[in-house]
This record gives sequence, structure tokens and C-alpha cells, in this order.
Amino acid sequence: MIPYGKQHIDQADLDAVLEVLNSDFLTQGPKVPEFEKRLADYCNVDFAVAVNSATSALHIACLSLGLGSGDIVWTSPNSFVASSNCALYCDAQIDFVDINPFTGNMCVEALEKKLATAETNHRLPKVIIPVHFSGQSCDMKAISALAKRYNIKIIEDASHAVGAEYQNDKVGSCKYSDISIFSFHPVKIITSAEGGAALTKCSKLAKTMQMFRSHGVTGATQEFSEQSHGPWYYEQQLLGFNYRMTDLHAALGITQLNKLDYFVNKRNLQAKRYIDKLSALPVTPLDVKNDNLSSYHLFVVLLNEKSARSKRFIVEKLREEGVFAHVHYIPIYKQPYYQRLGFSQFYCEQAEEYYKRAITLPLFPLMTEEQQDKVIASLKKVLLMADSIE
Ligand SMILES: *Cc1c(COP(=O)(O)O)cnc(C)c1O
Repeated sequence: MIPYGKQHIDQADLDAVLEVLNSDFLTQGPKVPEFEKRLADYCNVDFAVAVNSATSALHIACLSLGLGSGDIVWTSPNSFVASSNCALYCDAQIDFVDINPFTGNMCVEALEKKLATAETNHRLPKVIIPVHFSGQSCDMKAISALAKRYNIKIIEDASHAVGAEYQNDKVGSCKYSDISIFSFHPVKIITSAEGGAALTKCSKLAKTMQMFRSHGVTGATQEFSEQSHGPWYYEQQLLGFNYRMTDLHAALGITQLNKLDYFVNKRNLQAKRYIDKLSALPVTPLDVKNDNLSSYHLFVVLLNEKSARSKRFIVEKLREEGVFAHVHYIPIYKQPYYQRLGFSQFYCEQAEEYYKRAITLPLFPLMTEEQQDKVIASLKKVLLMADSIE
């Protein structure tokens, strides 16, 4: 079976993890700060706070911006549930902004309209979480201009977009946001097994997120609010969590980061090859804007209206053929949990349109040209089968 995504682990990764296992520190040693420094330098941003998942990073990002009960968060329905769950962890309310069905990203026009209505109704969000779907940045310049006008904070969910660029800046630079979030889950661009990071230009936000990741505790003398009892003294100042990354994971993250540009380049070459070869088939790859370098976490094609009616058949048959096609994403508001929160089944029109048509084809750096040709041949065959059963 050709998977839709797969990690690429080499000898350098194995050596790095082994070295940590043989060292004095398995966790809270030198590797986590080294990984954070390397991430921050790579993105040209001041601070990176490494944690045990992007989900944790989203949670502490929301908390550090003061999100709480009575606040509202807006995100994209075309994402993994973690993008919106983080708001609910903080007792805030969640709402969804419709997408552009050709990019899968938050639609700026839909956002602008929704903001105008929300202002009238006194229901403006405190935080907006755009999601850089499939590895292409949202139109952050436009989203940031709108957020500034209404005094709203921005967290970029860049889980898919590690190594991507927007208008010649690395995603994660926080040029147009308060905080950017990365995921290092094995299906993403680089991996630390489980892991994530929150990046920011703001030292105060970085400090607060560092506290939230480790029980709300600080051992730094200059931060104590009370008199120190002695050299053993530490203070809990907030209600935090244990969201720490271990040195084992950070060591893997560092050696993976060394390969990041290679991974992104390889994924772009593979995507270009798909786009060339699929032009003969009745499918449309997602639109990637000229001012973006996508990291191509996912390679999504849109079926035409006719074959979209057989989408389930097409994905099932592809899997029978040994091609693990997938679908990203079921609009979050369709999940039973979100239905219970009161969202209607067809809440966002364009997200519905996209969901009818989108399928994800396998793409990962170790995929061979033979495997890619097999995916294309299988898709061609299955589309013809779907056509004939209509
Ligand atoms: C994978 C993913 C997450 C969660 O990442 P974890 O590191 O698994 O917690 C969040 N948002 C998006 C868009 C993702 O794809």
C-alpha cells in the first residue's frame, strides 16, 4: 500500500537519538533549547517554544493571549479538529470562517463580511486562527490588516507549512501574526515523533508560554514575586501543564531540521510532476499562489462535478488498488461533538463544496517515481470505472 504520507528517518536521526539516550539528560537537557534556537533562526523569529505536540502549542498560545470564558475564536472548518479544540479548552466559543474551495484556505472576503456582521452584533472574536492548508500560507497580509482594524490577535496554525514561504518570508516569521504553530507529527514535513512549537516575536508571550508548558512554574530569580526561600526555591504563578518536549524528541527534531529544505524541495518537485501528469485527467490540483512556496504537506486534487458524486467509490477503489488515498478534511463543524454545540450540518457553503470534491493523493519525500506513476495510473483507471457506473 502506498501511504498518503510517511516520515523520512536516516542514520543521522538514529545517531542523534542514541547519543541523547547515552547522555546525562533524557529530558530538560541541552537539546530542547538548541532545537528552539535552530527553529527560531530558520524562521527569522525571536522565540520558539518547543512542546510535546502542536495541539499543546495551540492551547498555550491561546492561554498566553488571555483567551477565556466569554471570548470568541474563529478558525477554518477545513482543518484538523485541534485547530478549534484549543479554543474550547480555554472555555472560549468557536466559530468558523468559510474557505476558498480552490486553495482550501480561509477566504479573506468571507472573513471581511463576517467581521462586519460581528461588529454590528458585538460578537467580534478575540483571536483568529488561520490554517495554512496543505502547506500554502493563507493571505496573511490581508488577514492581518483586517485583524488590526478590529483589534484581534492572530495565531497561525502552520502545522502543515513548516519550511514554506509567504512573500519571501519563512512561514513562522510571525510578520503578520502574534504566534505561529508548527507540528512535528510523523506525517508532517519534519518530525520529532510527537512534537510541536509556538513561535513569536514577543518576549512576554514566549515567557508566558514557557511557564504554561511546565506547570506554570518558574525557577528564574528575577521572575519571583515573593522572597526566595533559598537555592531550592521555585514559584508556581499560573495553572500550567506538563507539555514539555524531551531531549530525545528535540535531538530528532534537530537532525530533521537539517533536511527540511531538501524535504520541501523534493515535495515541490513531486507536486510539479503530479500537476504535469494529471493535466490529462479530469481533476484539478489545488491552486498555489505566486507569492507562496508551499511545503506540500498534502497533495489534494478536486474531482469534477460528475466524478465527485462517486467520490466514496473512487477512494475505496484506490485503496483496493494499493493507493492509500485520503480526504482532508471533513469540515470540523460536521463532527458529532460540534453538531452538539449547535452548528448546522452544512454550516459553510464553500467548505461543503470543497469537501464534496477533494481527495488527497500520496506524497512524501521517499515516494519513488514508479510509486507516483502507479498512483496516477490507478486514479485514471478508477475514474473511468466511476464514469461507467454512472
Ligand atoms: C496535525 C495538525 C495539528 C495537531 O498536531 P499534533 O502535533 O498532532 O498535535 C493541528 N493543526 C493542524 C492543521 C494539523 O494538521
